[in-house]
Amino acid sequence: MSMQHSPFLPPARLGVMGGGQLGRMFVHAAQAMGFKVAVLEAAPDSPAGHAADSLIAADYSDAQALAQLGQSCVAVTTEFENVPADSLRLLATHAFVAPGADCVAIAQDRIAEKRFLAGCAALSGVPPAPHKTIAALDDIESIEDLLLPGILKTVRMGYDGKGQAVVRTRDDVRAAFAAMGGVTCLLEKMLPLAYEVSVLTARGADGESVVYPIAENVHRDGILFTTTVPGPNVSLESAGKAQQAAKVIVDELAYVGVLCIEFFVLTDGSLVVNEMAPRPHNSGHYTMDACVTSQFAQQVRAMARLPLGDVRQHSPAVMLNLLGDIWFASGSETPTEPAWAELLALPGACLHLYGKEAARRGRKMGHVTFIAPTLAQAQAQLAAACTILGIPA
Ligand code: ADP
Ligand code: MG
Repeated sequence: MSMQHSPFLPPARLGVMGGGQLGRMFVHAAQAMGFKVAVLEAAPDSPAGHAADSLIAADYSDAQALAQLGQSCVAVTTEFENVPADSLRLLATHAFVAPGADCVAIAQDRIAEKRFLAGCAALSGVPPAPHKTIAALDDIESIEDLLLPGILKTVRMGYDGKGQAVVRTRDDVRAAFAAMGGVTCLLEKMLPLAYEVSVLTARGADGESVVYPIAENVHRDGILFTTTVPGPNVSLESAGKAQQAAKVIVDELAYVGVLCIEFFVLTDGSLVVNEMAPRPHNSGHYTMDACVTSQFAQQVRAMARLPLGDVRQHSPAVMLNLLGDIWFASGSETPTEPAWAELLALPGACLHLYGKEAARRGRKMGHVTFIAPTLAQAQAQLAAACTILGIPA
């Protein structure tokens, strides 16, 4: 093993940019392997901040705080997709940073991301949706008919379907573009989706990569609702194609760390690549309970330049996101703690709560994964859980 790839060993300190639930689960995984963890996050109270060994309470672009994080850690990663790329560049002058600034910069800009994915299509065999940049009113005049109806998406800072509008005509595009404040947007053709899948990958500093089993995702109101693995709709053929494309994409990026890639399967069976997250992903939470190596343990291994772990899934799994809405299921305006004891009485229930101070509608508070000997059994537990928690089936 060359010096360039020599691993960082516990009890070294690892750093993470961001204090959300993804950071919290990263902290837990790193600590379980004997590492210490520092979190950089502006909020004094945060899910990851509470779990970390140390907290640097500062903005993501605070140069002094970044220097402090970089100097106190051997390696730094991110749990927050929109961390400024320049902050990662600055950190890289002090510590090993994975994923690197250039990869994160592509994933946080829908135009750069589409250009990159389109460039991979010749090798990966999987194109992105037809699209066009809308930066000014002139761009709206020249929209081709083929792109409508479409979805107008802000180029930066979009997540959970936020910053998106369905548009049927050029007038709709004008109105939506104005409503978004005239910021640069991407217009994408609205595609006939049969179902959505994601492929979680990890790549080490030595260029070795792994691909997890393909996950089938159901969204509600733009937010991930459930992830099922193996996906009941996923054909062997589309699974193979998506996994192959994911391998091409991580290699082309020369990525180091955990990368999740979302794909659409269209009604004609063809595959389209949607977007990438340069970090563990909500659709990969099932790996915590159903795979040999969780996506967070994998993130630790990749940034510490340790060998990547086995991605084998040992049990069928269904993951259900727990949004703040279920605290208000009774119709009351005062939040009530959901019936966790009843939920935990279901066989194979693995409950993860993120320690957030207040429940709010639409806020991700936790998730529960059901693992079972068969997928049908896991799905039956999901149905029972929805009944217990007052979630419409
Ligand atoms: P976000 O960054 O908010 O996750 P996405 O681009 O993944 O944004 O869009 C959110 C959801 O909107 C997708 O999971 C999918 O259900 C739907 N969607 C996005 N783009 C398209 C498209 N071109 N055609 C049809 N549905 C789409
Ligand atoms: Mg998405």
